[in-house]
Amino acid sequence: MAKYRGPVCRLCRREGIKLYLKGDRCYTNKCAFERRPYAPGQHGKGRVKVSDYGLQLRAKQKARRIYGVLEKQFRSYYEEAAKVRGVTGEVLLQILESRLDNMVFRAGFAASRSQARQLVRHGHFTVNGMKVDIPSYRVKPEDVIAVREKSRSSVLMKDIAEALGDRSVPEWLDVNKSLLTCQVLRLPERAEIDIPVEEHLIVERYSR
Ligand code: SF4
Repeated sequence: MAKYRGPVCRLCRREGIKLYLKGDRCYTNKCAFERRPYAPGQHGKGRVKVSDYGLQLRAKQKARRIYGVLEKQFRSYYEEAAKVRGVTGEVLLQILESRLDNMVFRAGFAASRSQARQLVRHGHFTVNGMKVDIPSYRVKPEDVIAVREKSRSSVLMKDIAEALGDRSVPEWLDVNKSLLTCQVLRLPERAEIDIPVEEHLIVERYSR
């Protein structure tokens, strides 16, 4: 399973927005975007006129980076969304939201999607009682995600359980903070997905 291994703060600076890829650090004054809110590189501070193509590309890259998905998989999600009845951009976002790593993050079991991805890879979660260690696993309404029995006593999970109290959980998830379980009530509607991306630009980009 491939993943981006380069410097992540650079991605925020490239997109010109905080993508919150580093969990708790993103909320401190150590955030690189707070200190240098311009694009990386020699011409990062220069003014650039962005074409329609550039806007579409940036929208796609931003969504990809927020969810931590590589190009090939992102395109396959788009192709899947395009075959489904409904607004393609919204369906695409729902597909991305239904990834197990995203659900673990949304439920508050991880400080960032990348931490969620790592926890899933390390086999700390079950879905409907079965161990699942595939971050891209697609969760459906009524599925129950839980921290594995064996993992509950680990120091890391104890820290996570403590942090859980401060994290807000979306309405479409039902999280039991003492049992460390999360039931997916439904998939979110567009208005409930708080990612700052104009998804119609992604659709335009791929349908060129
Ligand atoms: Fe982005 Fe977080 Fe790095 Fe700030 S600390 S630049 S929000 S990844």
